[in-house]
Amino acid sequence: MTVRTSHVVPFQDVTELLAATGARVRNSVPLAGLTTLRVGGPATVADCESVEALVATVRTLDAAGIPVLLLAGGSNLLISDAGFGGVVVRIATRGIEFSEAGVTAEAGAAWDEVVAASVASGFGGLECLSGIPGSAGATPVQNVGAYGVEVAQLLRRVRLLDRKSGEIRWATPDELGFGYRTSVLKHSDRSVVLAVEFALRPDGRSAPLNYRELAAALDAAEGETRPAGQVREAVLRLRAGKGMVLDAEDHDTWSAGSFFTNPVVPTEREAEVRAAIAKYVGDVTVPAYPSVAGVKFSAGWLIERAGFGKGFPGTPAPARLSTKHTLALTNRGAATAEDMLALARTVRDGVAERFGIRLEPEPVIVGSTL
Ligand SMILES: Cc1cc2nc3c(=O)[nH]c(=O)nc-3n(C[C@H](O)[C@H](O)[C@H](O)COP(=O)(O)OP(=O)(O)OC[C@H]3O[C@@H](n4cnc5c(N)ncnc54)[C@H](O)[C@@H]3O)c2cc1C
Repeated sequence: MTVRTSHVVPFQDVTELLAATGARVRNSVPLAGLTTLRVGGPATVADCESVEALVATVRTLDAAGIPVLLLAGGSNLLISDAGFGGVVVRIATRGIEFSEAGVTAEAGAAWDEVVAASVASGFGGLECLSGIPGSAGATPVQNVGAYGVEVAQLLRRVRLLDRKSGEIRWATPDELGFGYRTSVLKHSDRSVVLAVEFALRPDGRSAPLNYRELAAALDAAEGETRPAGQVREAVLRLRAGKGMVLDAEDHDTWSAGSFFTNPVVPTEREAEVRAAIAKYVGDVTVPAYPSVAGVKFSAGWLIERAGFGKGFPGTPAPARLSTKHTLALTNRGAATAEDMLALARTVRDGVAERFGIRLEPEPVIVGSTL
């Protein structure tokens, strides 16, 4: 999804407007410092540390017609070098609460803290989603998933502020249109997630292990379960090996995670795509999996086979593919948003030219287009 900005709203006006909301308003904040890609120009930022402040801030800005960008962990955002002309509402609520049947987290709670606390409290279910950066409230936005589990499978309900009607209510998963890395929340400005609630396993066992690499790492057959803590450790190890756990010292993690989603090709195009791949790379086994809408190919495999190997295009380019994982576009320290986008275009167009598949970006792009 691409979010467009309009003209810059004067800081003084915003400060006065939000005076009674409980938000802390800051001027000319470099958004690079609030995103894991570490790119993005300046904006006025309203930090909201309570649910009340968050609701009052969004309602006030909406009533005044000022464009809002919701930002929590900044791990799925690519913000342009021009920054954002409206107000960035930074969701910094923190609460996490357990009941007998699961966990409720405020939107700004760090996701991995929710997972770690669940495992430590003797609950199973979320362990495959260990180590994913960002906030609890963003997890339903793109139906966050990893190692064979998606949040949609465990989510009991989501507390939403409806920005059109002003209503606050709990919504059930069937209202949220979940799909692979998407939901109705990802393609709309309509709602703010205020809290999420997950049903967990009280026996402390993991979800059934459905991902071959993870099952193998645990010496388990696919479909078996293991103690949730063991699975969490294994997931964190596997993720770290791919640069998929944030580490400020490691530029391979200065990313938005996977930059492209795995493309789903309609069944009627499968033979054509396979022929294009065979023509370019020869007769090899192509990783592909059945999916509801057709056949899902591996974006990372396609990128690598299209000629964009790990670390592409090499030193001294400021934006490069991760040296650990071709699917992550990384900032080597001095990249701009435009550098990131230029690399993304090169990779996307190269894959399209060779294999006839158009890769779609996973992060939300703000103020620019791919
Ligand atoms: C190293 C790395 C590894 C990753 N691995 C994975 C992975 O394995 N699986 C996966 O699915 N993702 C992965 N991601 C992507 C990212 O971590 C997730 O999408 C995460 O849920 C984003 O959370 P956030 O709080 O950082 O969202 P942000 O980047 O702050 O926001 C993302 C989008 O959600 C919107 N949003 C945020 N909070 C709310 C809210 N409360 N209500 C409504 N809208 C909101 C924003 O406006 C924006 O459009 C990875 C990212 C990185 C950097």
